[in-house]
This record gives sequence, structure tokens and C-alpha cells, in this order.
Amino acid sequence: MTAAPERTCVGCGRRAPQAELLRFGSVEGLLTAGRTLPGRGAYTCRRLVCFERAVASRGFNRVLRSTVVVESGLASHYTDS
Ligand SMILES: [Zn+2]
Repeated sequence: MTAAPERTCVGCGRRAPQAELLRFGSVEGLLTAGRTLPGRGAYTCRRLVCFERAVASRGFNRVLRSTVVVESGLASHYTDS
């Protein structure tokens, strides 16, 4: 079995196979969930706490190298809460 590409969670710093993580990108300055968005991607675990931590630390801005607006509705992508 070949190694799956790994990505780092913006929230907790854990490395995990890409398929285990949620991917976000910036669409006209708005943080948007999507696996096929063009440009840079930021990843989090599928845990709401990681998303909240990424928002609090402005990790999305850092990883995406731009200022993104985070809408609270994005939390609905996390199903553990
Ligand atoms: Zn995480």
C-alpha cells in the first residue's frame, strides 16, 4: 500500500491522511469548505474543537496566506458536536 498524502490540521497540528481531514480554501476572501477549490488549502480534523482553535489562532489566515472571513455556519461541516 502506498502512503497517502498527509496534511497538517490547522487547529491541533496533527498530521493525518488527507482523506481524514476537512479541506478549506479562500473564495474571494471567504473561507469555504471544499475538496476541489483552486489555490492553497487549509485542513482541519473532523472535530469542531480543531476548527474553533484554528479560528482563534488565525491559523486559516496563516496557512492560506491571506485574510479570510470565517462564517459561523462552517461549523455545520463538523458532525461531532
Ligand atoms: Zn486537529
